[in-house]
Amino acid sequence: GLRCGIVGLPNVGKSTLFNALSNAKAEAANYPFCTIEPNVGVVTVPDERLQVLESLVNPEKVLPTVIEFVDIAGLVKGASKGEGLGNKFLGNIREVDAIIHVVRCFKDDNVVHVDGKVNPVSDKEIIDTELQIKDLESIDKKIQRFLKVAKSGDKEARKALEMLEKFKTHLENGNNARSLEASKEEWEVVKDLCLLTAKPVIYLANVEEGSILNGNEHSEALKEGVKHEDAEVLLICAAIESQIATLEDEEEKAMFLQEYGLDESGLNKLIKASYRLLNLITYFTAGVKEVRAWTIRNGWKAPQAAGVIHTDFERGFIRAEVIGYEDYKEYKSEAAVKDAGKMSIEGKEYVVNDGDIMHFRFNV
Ligand code: GDP
Repeated sequence: GLRCGIVGLPNVGKSTLFNALSNAKAEAANYPFCTIEPNVGVVTVPDERLQVLESLVNPEKVLPTVIEFVDIAGLVKGASKGEGLGNKFLGNIREVDAIIHVVRCFKDDNVVHVDGKVNPVSDKEIIDTELQIKDLESIDKKIQRFLKVAKSGDKEARKALEMLEKFKTHLENGNNARSLEASKEEWEVVKDLCLLTAKPVIYLANVEEGSILNGNEHSEALKEGVKHEDAEVLLICAAIESQIATLEDEEEKAMFLQEYGLDESGLNKLIKASYRLLNLITYFTAGVKEVRAWTIRNGWKAPQAAGVIHTDFERGFIRAEVIGYEDYKEYKSEAAVKDAGKMSIEGKEYVVNDGDIMHFRFNV
């Protein structure tokens, strides 16, 4: 599944947000593949197409797809050098697919700011610097390894060194790896390092209740400060999210959101943004036992998509029976879709579409 790491300085609202997310958590029992640790929250991805399929298929159960949020606590200035607990947690970032960077943009004199005043851009840079230092360490280690080989005149090693130096210089200049314009070949050289600053990022500007619709001067400053990064900045109010999380039914939630002039929760906005950021899509399997959503990358072919269900499905892939979501909705049953000639039999080269209802045939 998809894993997002939540980072940010202390007192910016990470725990408040994380607790709200965890409250919205998926029923863990349904997701045995997720290892539930205290700093991991598993959240279901809302998808109205699942309800439509449920009403048509009437299955025993419905399983939405999930996103895991990992709370990466303890990042402070100097974390990479062992300040606070940060160093211990920095490693956790290596395993995530995307980074959610929470930045304090709310005004509240009762909440102490680690640096004395609210300054989203410098806050963000403090965290960036720690991650960059960590990345420089990884790159330096690799450079040392290649240096030995390069000395003996190995051409490949020399070329790799050049590429590594390019990343090194970029990071030393205070940039994140993700902003480097590097070739495919160059990215390949650093791939095994899982660079922290190469991971895609979403900024969450945590504003006070009154600024949730239009933001405030701090969230504007943040937007301005990350303009060159081509990253999304989402307004969120952790305080609102934690209240929503305590509400039981959907109608109550909708009414609560309406009072703030919102049409969806920050959590939902965040989930959608993560899908966009990582270029993810959803396909479905629909049987009487279970209707289920699965997350894959846009562009994946049928066998790879089958592999998220089970590696055997990928290895033994024969073919897939595919129904487009709109066709399923229109004809209302698999049999009716078939009769209308709208079900297609696809092979290994088929590129899965968002919303496809897939049935895989495979050899074990
Ligand atoms: P963390 O250290 O980043 O995990 O921050 P916390 O979630 O513990 O929040 C630090 C303090 O800021 C707590 O007292 C929160 O109640 C408060 N806080 C968090 N989000 C908001 C918010 O949106 N508005 C206001 N006014 N206070 C908030």
